[in-house]
Amino acid sequence: MTNRTDPKVALVTGASRGIGAEIAKRLAKDGFTIVINYAGSAADAEALATAIEASGGRALTAQADVGDAQAVARMWDAAEAAFGGVDVLVNNAGIMKLATLADGDDALFDSQIAINLKGPRNTMKLAATRLREGGRIINLSSSVVGLYQPTYGVYAATKAGVEAMTHVLAKELRGRNITVNAIAPGPTATALFLDGKPQAAIDALTKLAPLERLGQPEDIANAVAFLAGPDGGWINGQILRSNGGII
Ligand code: NAP
Repeated sequence: MTNRTDPKVALVTGASRGIGAEIAKRLAKDGFTIVINYAGSAADAEALATAIEASGGRALTAQADVGDAQAVARMWDAAEAAFGGVDVLVNNAGIMKLATLADGDDALFDSQIAINLKGPRNTMKLAATRLREGGRIINLSSSVVGLYQPTYGVYAATKAGVEAMTHVLAKELRGRNITVNAIAPGPTATALFLDGKPQAAIDALTKLAPLERLGQPEDIANAVAFLAGPDGGWINGQILRSNGGII
């Protein structure tokens, strides 16, 4: 282990909005320098970087479609050029498209595979050799892995794949002092969950957990901060369901 005194660097994918933005804010508060990845929401990403810098932190925005391996490599190069390396990778970028297996078309399948499954694979492929010693990888799964409700088939399949890669990479990184874990949120109040759902469906899902409320992005950021920080150092190869007890 090196005795570095400079701030650790966290790269958060899909950090322009929702859970990712909250993770970026929380890790910045905890002293990490942040790389804010986004796909299309440049203004939101820039506003977040400005807010982090205004609070005394350091942040860089980095546009990259996580499904595009070359774009991900350019982003990683930019992070290393700016800050010398990356210590924490949070694979948060994701989309959710719901349809029964009978109705879902190839576009629904391909887009979720590209962003939710190939995305984390692209970043983890680089992290496996380039994340600094003592680093942490934190993947966003979902409690749909376990709940397996109708219409969530392809989305759940991508997240089950993420969980599988989490377990395997934790073992492949033996000897590098890097942990690999996943957080599996339940329904969380962001555009991904709320957009396009009838109020009755939102109400029903809100009541499903014994704690009888929706998750908030802060709830998930708290769990990520635990795994990224000193108290989470002995947790490795685990899936942590952060969901109010829904499953
Ligand atoms: P969200 O509010 O829709 O935000 C999604 C984020 O991902 C945005 O910053 C978006 O950036 C980014 N993104 C989308 N496609 C991308 C791509 N190809 N490359 C890079 N970034 C991309 O979603 P959220 O609810 O915060 O979800 C965050 C993660 O938590 C996802 O992995 C999701 O599956 C998981 N999750 C969410 C819930 C929930 O109920 N909300 C539950 C379980 C798990 P742009 O705006 O720039 O496109």
